[in-house]
Amino acid sequence: MKNIPKFVLIIILSTQLFSSEFITIGTGSVTGIYYTTGGSICRLVNKYKDSTIRCSIQSTEGSLYNLNSVNNKDLDFAIVQSDILYQASHNKNNFKNSSYSKVKSIMAIYPELLTLVTKKDANINTIMDIKDKRINLGSSGSGNETTALTLFNEIGLTKNDLKEASSYNASEMSDALKNNKIDGYFYMVGHPTSTIKDSSSSVNIKIIPIENEITNKLIEKYPYFTKGNIPGGIYKGQVEDIPTFGVKAVLVVNEKVNEKIVYALVKAILENFDEFKKLHPAYSNITKESLLEGLSTPLHEGAKKYYEEIGLIK
Ligand code: GLU
Repeated sequence: MKNIPKFVLIIILSTQLFSSEFITIGTGSVTGIYYTTGGSICRLVNKYKDSTIRCSIQSTEGSLYNLNSVNNKDLDFAIVQSDILYQASHNKNNFKNSSYSKVKSIMAIYPELLTLVTKKDANINTIMDIKDKRINLGSSGSGNETTALTLFNEIGLTKNDLKEASSYNASEMSDALKNNKIDGYFYMVGHPTSTIKDSSSSVNIKIIPIENEITNKLIEKYPYFTKGNIPGGIYKGQVEDIPTFGVKAVLVVNEKVNEKIVYALVKAILENFDEFKKLHPAYSNITKESLLEGLSTPLHEGAKKYYEEIGLIK
């Protein structure tokens, strides 16, 4: 240290003091709600008083891509469906052979519901009617296909029962429906979402209910599913509430991400929770307590510290 000139030392020290920490949140298609949610979080984090964190978002294919990227630390933060997170952290189904123990949860933000959007003239009235139809299950990095196939398994359907199982990603599937390339698509998403609004503004759509009998069996088997209704009136032509089942959209982080950064991010959101809730109607029923319901995998230490401090967990 003795030989370093004073002015160089000052520069080194001040860059350390004032240097920003850059973080990126993996989201989903720009037309989905993960993208808006990542943006909402970054907005609060970046403007938080004295924050040195510079938060940005990345559009991705969705939950599966995000889960793998956070596990490999290609992404620090991302949003992942709670069913996929549960299966991965408990080494179930397609996740038997890899460890996902590096993925920790921060908060289970809002509910997402499995939504089967079809063309009204495709003559699909129940879930079983998708036999011999052209149905989009989603791209391989999305969470849609995983959840749709769990449902298939429960009702005794396979991909081979469909006329065509396509894999358009979330930003392509509404156009695919409008251009009559598919009869319907599955989307695990919060509501209202612009993708479905877009579909309903160009073609007559019908959202297919998942009957109670099926949902009850699923919930009995898989603890991370809950019942939910897609509210009537939010999409053109869809007047009634539609029963289905859903999961939570969970913000996750790699366990190696600094505790202070995770702590600061959670604090920035929770201290501005009313403002956060106004950023998307899908958050309208969430509470600070509900952020801890359906986490599916252990909390990151930084998040835990903040929740303990404000008495949300003991
Ligand atoms: N749940 C979807 C997925 O994981 C993404 C939904 C969204 O982008 O809002 O693929």
